[in-house]
Amino acid sequence: MQQSERLYTPGPTPLPPAVYDAAALPIIYHRSAEFTAIFREFSTSLQKVFLTSMPVITLMSSGTGAAEAAVMNLCGEHKKGATIANGRFGERWGTLMERYGMDVCTYKTEWGKAPDAEEIEVFLRNNPDLDMIWLVHCETSSGTLTDIQKLLPIIRQNSNALVCIDGITAIGVHECRMDEWGIDVLITASQKGLMSPPGLAFIALSQKAWDIVEKSSPKGIYFDLCKAREAYIKGTTPWTPAVTLVRATYTALQMIEQEGLENVWERHAKTAQRLRDFFMKNNISLFSQSPCNALTALAMPQQAHIIANKLLEHNIRVARGQKHLENDIIRVAHMGWFHEQDSIAIEQAFLEIIHHT
Ligand SMILES: *Cc1c(COP(=O)(O)O)cnc(C)c1O
Repeated sequence: MQQSERLYTPGPTPLPPAVYDAAALPIIYHRSAEFTAIFREFSTSLQKVFLTSMPVITLMSSGTGAAEAAVMNLCGEHKKGATIANGRFGERWGTLMERYGMDVCTYKTEWGKAPDAEEIEVFLRNNPDLDMIWLVHCETSSGTLTDIQKLLPIIRQNSNALVCIDGITAIGVHECRMDEWGIDVLITASQKGLMSPPGLAFIALSQKAWDIVEKSSPKGIYFDLCKAREAYIKGTTPWTPAVTLVRATYTALQMIEQEGLENVWERHAKTAQRLRDFFMKNNISLFSQSPCNALTALAMPQQAHIIANKLLEHNIRVARGQKHLENDIIRVAHMGWFHEQDSIAIEQAFLEIIHHT
């Protein structure tokens, strides 16, 4: 599989050749024993990445669908939600809860900053009786890591809310232990750290969250998590699954398992550190004050467009900023199927651009 342009965008990310091969297999019938066998093993592999003994439900959507499923099945009109927003995705989950008629309060920090533990504590004391609270583990809009492990006990001490973690760029990149850390809802998607094609979303719920789901009556059908779990127990999905994407993603999950999840985290940490060192040595400022290992956001005031286009001349596709930062940062992803030669290619392209401007 040859592609001249390399994708260093924070989703989709490059795929291993074996994943492309799996995606090229003939379609099988989804109500067959063959599919059920694959789906069961696939779901077990997902549990190993989420580090949970609870079912990991696969939804046929991008990651946003998993957040929608969480809100639709767990909350609704007149419930209270909070979002810890230090970037675009945290803001989005606030909007999502509002659309479902919830009362939403927002803890806001500047983009590029991680939420402050003491401020979160005060925020929770000022907002008692929350039903749901959203945190983004890696805020992809600014390349910022939030220390979920540190914040979870603080949230638990000050709130009974369900703690929902957007792990969309964190899973398969950063340490995240659903059961051990006591996460209630954990979501991710196929096209980021899991080095798979776009199109699948994954969601796992704690027992506390399932108890609430069982009593709820969601308005929709497609994202009804009780139906999804009934089918899951039988080794299938309620509606026609994206058979091709399941097979491709299963191949990627097996590769992660073979490498070892902790080794995968370690590899991402080393790669990210190497690139951060390179950028800083060359006087290119990092945008985030708490950089994550999935991507690096670089401060390029009024230059993001130009630099991104110059990188494209080197066959390197990066993402610019979002919203107000569109022309002020570029985001270089280094998650999933990313190796030393990718770091070298990125560094060489930057050096040439620096020396020609
Ligand atoms: C990519 C991303 C999303 C959106 O996911 P889609 O798959 O595009 O729906 C949400 N949150 C974070 C942190 C992301 O990186």
